[in-house]
Amino acid sequence: MKKRLEHIFLATILIAVFILAKNYYDDYQFKHNEIPQSYKKRITQKEMEILDLMQKNYGFTHKFPIIITDKFQGRLYGVTSYKNGDIKIYLNKKVMKESMDYMVDSVIAHEYAHALMFKMGHLYEEKKGHSKLWLETCNKLGGINCSQYVDRDDVILGKLPF
Ligand SMILES: [Zn+2]
Repeated sequence: MKKRLEHIFLATILIAVFILAKNYYDDYQFKHNEIPQSYKKRITQKEMEILDLMQKNYGFTHKFPIIITDKFQGRLYGVTSYKNGDIKIYLNKKVMKESMDYMVDSVIAHEYAHALMFKMGHLYEEKKGHSKLWLETCNKLGGINCSQYVDRDDVILGKLPF
């Protein structure tokens, strides 16, 4: 009886070690490689939805470059930068694995709204961050819960901190 318990105990430990190793391996893979194809597909699909809505609501489409990077400091999901007329959206790879749904449902449209505001020349509005006009733009581009995280500082005019 005692022997059997020992075996069960040992088996449990082995399984736990295996799961830990697997998690570690998955995390390592994710950090050191490009994002998986399935993630890219979801981002592209969302972008197409946003561009459709842009066409519908504004009568034109403009595709902004979306850059996925792990150089973010802190837990920000995304930022939009404007420098000499150059507009870019950056998404935080570090939070993607655990928050991909949120990234796709909320963050991409949120940042796209900032980018579109820049494009339409609302630079002053953008300095204030999440203005009423920005909120309207975010909603028009299909963002979910646009008003949810309005106190975050995710608009960068000039040089990026990374
Ligand atoms: Zn924002």
